[in-house]
Amino acid sequence: MFKQRTIKKSASVTGIGLHTGSEVKLTFNPENGNGGIRFIRKDSPGSIEIPADIDYVVDTTRGTNLEKDGIRVHTVEHVLAAVAGLGIDNLIIELDGPEPPICDGSAAPFVNVLLEAGIIEQNKPKVYLELDKPVLYSEKEDGLLKELVAMPADDFHLTYMVDYQKSNLSSQYTVVYSLEDEFATEIAPARTWTFLSDIKTLRERGLIKGGSLESAIVIADLDLSDGELDELKDLFGVEDRIELGENGIVGTQPLRFDNEPCRHKALDLIGDLALLGAPLKAQIFGARSSHSANIELVRRIRNVCVKKQSEEVPSSEKVLDIEDILELLPHRYPFLLIDRVIDMEPGKRVVALKNVTFNEPFFSGHFPGHPVMPGVLIIEAMAQAGGLLLLNTIDNPQSKMAYFMGIDQARFRKLVKPGDQIRLELEMLRMRMQACKMEGRAYVDDELVAEAGLMAMITDREISK
Ligand SMILES: [Zn+2]
Repeated sequence: MFKQRTIKKSASVTGIGLHTGSEVKLTFNPENGNGGIRFIRKDSPGSIEIPADIDYVVDTTRGTNLEKDGIRVHTVEHVLAAVAGLGIDNLIIELDGPEPPICDGSAAPFVNVLLEAGIIEQNKPKVYLELDKPVLYSEKEDGLLKELVAMPADDFHLTYMVDYQKSNLSSQYTVVYSLEDEFATEIAPARTWTFLSDIKTLRERGLIKGGSLESAIVIADLDLSDGELDELKDLFGVEDRIELGENGIVGTQPLRFDNEPCRHKALDLIGDLALLGAPLKAQIFGARSSHSANIELVRRIRNVCVKKQSEEVPSSEKVLDIEDILELLPHRYPFLLIDRVIDMEPGKRVVALKNVTFNEPFFSGHFPGHPVMPGVLIIEAMAQAGGLLLLNTIDNPQSKMAYFMGIDQARFRKLVKPGDQIRLELEMLRMRMQACKMEGRAYVDDELVAEAGLMAMITDREISK
């Protein structure tokens, strides 16, 4: 995940908002610039736009709510978890009501439409937030400690644990090692949940108007009489009698994961961390945190984190310019056949450019009136790019030289003419001791013009003066 991401085309989800109970349509729209994640309330005067940013958080009662100019978007965490979990950096989230639809209480419906819309990489490096020291937050509520810790790390990892000391919810634990590999399948489908004892209170506070047994797991932490069960039946608006299922789960829907409640808490935290406005490189440990604790952690991280651009530079920018190349390669005019290196992963691959101009000395003899770049010189340009890759893979490159020992399977596919820009792409297949095998391809306007296998070797450079 090195380049910023958005989606290819718009995609929508419709449904009921959990707390407000109103029907709403949410539409994800591509954001091809660098504007981050923004909500737009289409139904508000002037279509108020609210950035998904910690600065706009106004309330964290059973959900994370954003507000700007008096206009709110309620319960943003599941949508934001889907967006952040898929590594999307720029996106417009349009709503025609005050709250995203709750759907099945998980982030899966959002993930599914985003994946269907197609996630695309933009030509901009990702900007990460990094920590140089641990960030901690804890608070005590009802005698239970809620704890959050963010430690400096080279990527995002999350370890989460719940333990409410209630008989029908066991102590649970989950780990997300890689959002890219695990979020969509392991975390996004985990549904929101609540204790039965909380439902009445929430209703009394005017919340969860749109809640139902289809949109949440309800965990029975009470021994209920038949009369109370009937009362709940009315509250949920269900026709059938409410049954207490196995594991203390109300209703008959099976759990999607044994530790689904814990996974959902991890999902909520991923959604709240998205309010940092950029992906975070940190190892997070969380226990029993609520949205208010999550938001406090996000505030603390925001105060100490440092923005860093990803190491991969977009293709429009250079990694090595001609000065850098002259320092590394012994070749000089007219035999230096690389102008720029635009991408370099030491030990893996290099992408270099050669602008072929009419003034190249070889055109005068190859052939007069019909200038064509000699194929062997394309291979030589490839070898020079490969030499740069090799030298960037070893220590003290200035005191070494890369010699080519063999060319294999060279093929010339198309003619290269004055005005063409050759893009040379080399991959390192093997590197043993000082010897290495590479595979090279040359393109003009994305069309393959030549390819070859190259063998090279590193030796000490003899400095003669
Ligand atoms: Zn949630």
